[in-house]
Amino acid sequence: MKETVLDRFLRYVKVNTRSQEDSETYPSTACQWDLLRLLEKEMGALGLRDVELDRWGYLTGTLPGNSPKKVPTVAFIGHVDTSPEVSGEGVKPVLHKNYQGGDLVLPGDPEQVIQAAENPNLALQIGHTIVTSDGTTLLGSDDKAGIAEILTMVDHFLAHPEIKRGAVRVLFTPDEEVGMGTAHLELARVAADYAYTVDGGEAGEIENETFNAAAATLTVKGFNVHPGYAKDKLVHASRIAARFVEMLPALAAPETTAGRQGYWHPLSIQGDISNATVKMILRDFEWEGIEAKVKYLEHCAEVLRAQFPRAGIEVAWKEQYRNMRYPIEKDPKVVDYALEAARRAGVEPKLHSIRGGTDGSALTLKGLLTPNIFTGGHNFHSKQEWNSVEWMEAAVRTLVETVKVWEEKA
Ligand SMILES: [Zn+2]
Repeated sequence: MKETVLDRFLRYVKVNTRSQEDSETYPSTACQWDLLRLLEKEMGALGLRDVELDRWGYLTGTLPGNSPKKVPTVAFIGHVDTSPEVSGEGVKPVLHKNYQGGDLVLPGDPEQVIQAAENPNLALQIGHTIVTSDGTTLLGSDDKAGIAEILTMVDHFLAHPEIKRGAVRVLFTPDEEVGMGTAHLELARVAADYAYTVDGGEAGEIENETFNAAAATLTVKGFNVHPGYAKDKLVHASRIAARFVEMLPALAAPETTAGRQGYWHPLSIQGDISNATVKMILRDFEWEGIEAKVKYLEHCAEVLRAQFPRAGIEVAWKEQYRNMRYPIEKDPKVVDYALEAARRAGVEPKLHSIRGGTDGSALTLKGLLTPNIFTGGHNFHSKQEWNSVEWMEAAVRTLVETVKVWEEKA
């Protein structure tokens, strides 16, 4: 009997794969090998070809094509790790069958309540089976739902050899949550013409763009003397740094913006009288927006130099990553086909912008166009993470249709 996406999902979330910041090893934690090795075995048993798990923890396999046409090879990518922010050990998934609306109280910790008011997509789940953790850990839908959906899609094609398809590559990576998911990944290892990460949120969402990102640092050199004799001599570096942070627009901060708005975000202020440093990140969906934000930082420094001529005030900045929309716009079919696939799968397709970077954006900038497809998951990196069986099935149907659309249009 064919295994369902839920069976797979419930099996994978029980394997702890929490990753770790600032690790000396790659993958960052040894526990990620547990799921990688389990998946390696399952991919072989399923009938995928060329299953290979390399020393970095990149796991790949091929579903050969059966179309007489020359169809581009498409890869589907998921990550095995879960966020370092919340425990992923001993996950006890809970099924809330035939959901009838209202809040969901998680049985392992009654203080963890998934509020209907804060989760508008719950209203679309009436009659569905919702999956949560018991409230003591995260669920791990990010991204074990993506992995379960990809392998269920493969299963579907193997059970239906009459459906024409191009070759499909499957890739599972470690350490996405610590920003290292593609650190050792070469495009030759992916061996595909186009790719999708399956790591998104609500049903129908196809993500075609990420932020542009820069990091900036303000350094201030002051002048310290005994406070009893400081008049007209002392220059207070930290006071100047504090004034600089006050000059950043409060309405363009992460806590005051959403959708396609960008922001300045001071991450840390450190200093004493002689020296002070402000570390910031800048985010904007347009590169011109990043340049304008840097310009404003330089303007602030200029104003402060005029007020404190004896201080040393410098702004430095560097690019972190670019919006993947720029290369995708030159070859937009990779997004158009996924939107068409979602429509055929019976869900309302919609473009969505990611307020961050993804492994897909890193791959896109290396030359492999990789937008992101929804998994159905919500409240990532939290004990209140949830998904529904019906939205996971919608994701599987969308993946199946995506492969079919590529074959059709070839
Ligand atoms: Zn993820």
